[in-house]
Amino acid sequence: MRNVATISVVLIGVSLLMGCTTFGAISWRNLLIVLRAPDPVPDRLTHPARHDARLAATWIGHATVLVQLDDKFVLTDPVFTRYVGGVSPRLVEPGVAVEHLPTLDAALVSHRHFDHLSKGSLRQIASRTRAVLAPVGAGADIPSGAYEIAELSAWQTREVDGLRITAVPVAHSGDRLPGDGESHAEAFTGFVIEYRGHVVFFAGDTAFDASRFAAIAARFPAIDLALMPIGPIAPATEMASHHLNPAQALAATEILGATHLLPIHYDTFINSLDAPGDVLARFEQAARSRTDAIATAAPLRIGGQRVYVTANP
Ligand SMILES: [Zn+2]
Ligand SMILES: [Zn+2]
Repeated sequence: MRNVATISVVLIGVSLLMGCTTFGAISWRNLLIVLRAPDPVPDRLTHPARHDARLAATWIGHATVLVQLDDKFVLTDPVFTRYVGGVSPRLVEPGVAVEHLPTLDAALVSHRHFDHLSKGSLRQIASRTRAVLAPVGAGADIPSGAYEIAELSAWQTREVDGLRITAVPVAHSGDRLPGDGESHAEAFTGFVIEYRGHVVFFAGDTAFDASRFAAIAARFPAIDLALMPIGPIAPATEMASHHLNPAQALAATEILGATHLLPIHYDTFINSLDAPGDVLARFEQAARSRTDAIATAAPLRIGGQRVYVTANP
C-alpha cells in the first residue's frame, strides 16, 4: 500500500512539473482513497451461467462484461485486481469473483490502457480461458498462459469453436506508457461477437466517430446488444477526443442499429474529474429522450445480470 501511495505522489509531482494539471488532479483523487476498501457487491452471483438464456450479460465492473451466447462465454477487458496501473483503487469489488466464472471461450482485450489490459487479471483467469484476442501490437503485453493468444487487425475475424469474433475500428489510442503510442499505432479495437444468429458489439474505449460506427453497422446490420462506454466526461474538452459521453453513446448505438445498449465504463475506477454518479445521472437523463430505435438502454449495477434473449423452454 505504501508503494501505491509513493507512486501516486511521484505521479502528482511529475504531472505538475509537466503542466499536466488534469492528470495530477486525477492522481490526487486516487491518492485520497488509496486505503479505502472497495464497496462489496450485495448478493454476488456465484453461478452466472444461465440455462434460460440465449443472450445474457453480467456487468463485472468498468469494461469487464461476461457475455453469454447460448453455451458460449466471452469476457471483455478482464479486470479483477484491486488497483489498475498500480495506483488507481477499485471503488467496488468485481461483480463476479474469478473462481465463479464459467470456462471462457474467449477473453477480449480492446487496448493497452491499464484499465483494460490488466496482466494480473489475465493471469487470474488463465486456467479457465481458451483464447485471448487482442489488437495488433497488444499481444506482447498479454501474459503467456495455457490459452491461445491471437492479434487481430481491423475487420479480421477469428473463429473460436463456432464463435466468430471480428476486430472492428474505433477511435482511441494504443499507448500504455508515455511515448509508446506511435509504436503501437494499431493497438486499439472494438469487437463484434457472433454466435448462432446473435450479435454483440463491444466498443472498448472510443471517441464519437459516426463514419466508423456506420461502417460497423454496414457489415453487421443486426447487432442485438452494444456494450458501450458512457464516460468519463470531465473535463469535457480533454475527454471528448478519446471517449463517448452519455448522449454520444446513445447516438452511436442508433448509428450501429443495435437493439439494446448496456452502459459500461463508469463508477468502477477514478480516471477523470467527474464524481461517482455524475456519468450515470447524465446517461439516464439523456436516455429519457432517446428514440424508439433502441429497445432497452437500462443500466445494470455492478454484479447485475440481464437476459436479453430467453431460451425457448
Ligand atoms: Zn482507454
Ligand atoms: Zn478506459
